[in-house]
Amino acid sequence: MILTLNCGSSSLKYQLFDGCAERVLAKGLVSRIGETRGRIEHRAGAFAETRDLAIPDHAAAVTLLLEMLGHAASGFDLAAIDGVGHRVVHGGDAFCESVTIDEGVIAEIEAWVPFAPLHNPANLIGIREAMAVFPNATHTAVFDTAFHQTMPPEAYVYPLPWELYARNGIRRFGFHGTSCRWVAGEAATLLGRPLDELKLIVCHLGNGCTIDAIEYGRSIDPSLGFGTVSGVMMGTRSGDFDPVLILHLARSLGMDLDAIDRLIHKQSGLVGIAGVGNDMRDVIEGMEAGNPRCRLAFAMFCRMVRKYVGAYAAVMDGVDAVVFTAGIGENCARVRAEICRGLSHLGLALDERANEEPSAAARSIGRAGAAVAALVVPTDEERMIALDTSALMRAGQEGLAA
Ligand code: ADP
Repeated sequence: MILTLNCGSSSLKYQLFDGCAERVLAKGLVSRIGETRGRIEHRAGAFAETRDLAIPDHAAAVTLLLEMLGHAASGFDLAAIDGVGHRVVHGGDAFCESVTIDEGVIAEIEAWVPFAPLHNPANLIGIREAMAVFPNATHTAVFDTAFHQTMPPEAYVYPLPWELYARNGIRRFGFHGTSCRWVAGEAATLLGRPLDELKLIVCHLGNGCTIDAIEYGRSIDPSLGFGTVSGVMMGTRSGDFDPVLILHLARSLGMDLDAIDRLIHKQSGLVGIAGVGNDMRDVIEGMEAGNPRCRLAFAMFCRMVRKYVGAYAAVMDGVDAVVFTAGIGENCARVRAEICRGLSHLGLALDERANEEPSAAARSIGRAGAAVAALVVPTDEERMIALDTSALMRAGQEGLAA
């Protein structure tokens, strides 16, 4: 069996797969790690359990999830877990694909901590804990940044002094790569065409958002960059705005760096404009009730996404399909319709009925025969992590046999 671990600063998501990464056997979420009121939500087939208890640290979270998996009602033999796939947020330009973890890989993930100070340390804790519990399993690192390593220099270098890139490694990295890679593959399957012949624009619209231009299977322009704020506005993050504003906030309004950090990461985007929280459902509810700030937030969000789609169609000199994914992209017909409303000049024509139809499956929401397809593809980062882990385990075995 293969276990996937996605360790955040205060949460841990896990899924247990069969060895081929085809079937999910169990899944769960440990939240509010480090607080006295932590929670674990676990599900394995018909068995579901939620427990509220203090979870002091990630080690306790791992112990707890193993207890749940080994619980008689779940009935898994933990000794049969021979692969553990770890989500790692930042691999910088050191990793262009998933790898089997060894001491060198751990050192490299540590080296990227200054670039992802909230995420990589949590990922490392998960790796260390799991390696202690499963010393004989193959542990793999699947990076959010790896898929975007195919960006050309004209996309990843910022128009800042060259030395900042050459000496300090400051450049665009992009995130949500595991999701974009999975979604691109599924989109090609749905279109019945090889991925390496397609120009795709993936709109990963969740709490965090990435719009990505994927040309012939290679990511060439993800909208997040050095950090996770640029591109379109998000649940709590601003997306693009004039960086001179930061100087103004500091000089004229006396804000310090921590305050500006909170402002752009936590207090902007939907939460900042609509004022009713970071959830698109609440924004739409407010809009329907006549709240002008909710209407504005909705309009801004859709306009920013549309603008990126237009820009990426220009960058690739065309597009075969616009693909929606993640919480908003998969579930919110209203947002999809508003984004697509401005894309008819590209040749995209929405099928309103198909767009409105609730479904959890990958599907077309465009009119038959339109020059540009419109698709909804559910993302599945865990499955991608499990598949990479399964492939690396096989490669390891073949290496040993040779
Ligand atoms: P994360 O980036 O945290 O993984 P998700 O991809 O799960 O986020 O997306 C979460 C967001 O999806 C929620 O904040 C909410 O705005 C949005 N969402 C989920 N379901 C719906 C829905 N039915 N309609 C509109 N928005 C939705």
